[in-house]
Amino acid sequence: MSNLPKLDIAVFEGDGIGNEITEPSLDLLSAASEQTGGFELTFKRLPAGAGTYRQEGIALPKESLNAARAADAIFLAAMGLPDVRYPDGTEVAPQLDLRFEFNLYAGVRPVRSVAGLPPVLADPRAAALDFVLIRESTEGLFASRGKGVVENDQEARDTQVITRPVCERLFDFAFDLAAKRRAAGRPGGVTCVDKANVFTSFAFFRQIFDERAALHSDIDADRAYVDATALNMIRRPWDLDVLVTENMFGDILSDLAAGLIGGMGLAPSADIGDEHAVFQPCHGSAPDIVGQGKANPTAMFLSAAMMLEWLAERHSIADCARAGAAIRSAVDQAFGDGGLIPADLGGSAGTVQVTQAVMTALRTPRVPVATAI
Ligand code: ATP
Repeated sequence: MSNLPKLDIAVFEGDGIGNEITEPSLDLLSAASEQTGGFELTFKRLPAGAGTYRQEGIALPKESLNAARAADAIFLAAMGLPDVRYPDGTEVAPQLDLRFEFNLYAGVRPVRSVAGLPPVLADPRAAALDFVLIRESTEGLFASRGKGVVENDQEARDTQVITRPVCERLFDFAFDLAAKRRAAGRPGGVTCVDKANVFTSFAFFRQIFDERAALHSDIDADRAYVDATALNMIRRPWDLDVLVTENMFGDILSDLAAGLIGGMGLAPSADIGDEHAVFQPCHGSAPDIVGQGKANPTAMFLSAAMMLEWLAERHSIADCARAGAAIRSAVDQAFGDGGLIPADLGGSAGTVQVTQAVMTALRTPRVPVATAI
């Protein structure tokens, strides 16, 4: 028995391509932890998702939920299938249940270009995008999930909820992240994205943002409407730093942001609360490419890096941060010379080729690994 710190990871491979990208991601995590040597990871596979709902009549079994609660972090691939739905017509989505159950209010979606991949925007500045979208993940319009009403087959209503305690924690999280980014050489400003000119709930959202901004006066604070933000995300994404927004707006803008760096296969995320966190690629189960070997595991690899960095901070394990940075560097190295183009970006590299290239880069780094945010 070693005396190294042990970290228990609850793993949900879920549905669709989740089954194809989980194993490579766990292999990469194991390789990174063994290479740095200062900690041990154990993985506990847990059932949940559309397949589980189909078999057991429940999407997130109690035992899975309890095991996830007991783990140090939760690592999730993808859940849900378009044809597996609750009686009200909505999709089975236990990944959303986890966010509500564990109060994972801060949905962190880094948007970082990977050098060597085909550019999406022609402007050369788009080759070095580096911003973060923080999507509130426990309320907003999604608070109405399962509670919407249809009256007399004539009128439907879903209600948005914005609360002060969640907003305060969310905005403080955004300012803290901006401060860390500034310490790492980025501009480090926060923009509140809303529709405060039209809706009372968003005016309240912005009011609380202003209050919290006053408490973080060393960090630049800006405000923008969501429609203008969508436009600027295409026109001048290199000017963005930390954006913080409501759940539904974040859902939409994060897919747009993923498009700027080449698509869903490259976009990682973390849903972070005060006690728990779930790390998963931004994408869904991609049923259109299941079983074809085309699933790009990169978003899940980068989510693994985020998980290691979050664990490092929480448990003060420097090697864990090093392992996270090593995974991100390995991704950069694998794609860096332009010879590896994944299938979702128009190339021929499938899950196996991308995994092999990233694993090789992890084992034979060309440059020293720098820890990053
Ligand atoms: P959800 O609403 O559950 O997040 P979605 O409706 O946004 O899911 P995805 O499953 O993310 O849909 O798929 C959107 C598109 O992106 C599909 O064409 C899918 O094949 C593609 N895609 C998503 N993830 C990957 C991946 N890892 N590798 C390659 N293509 C992917």
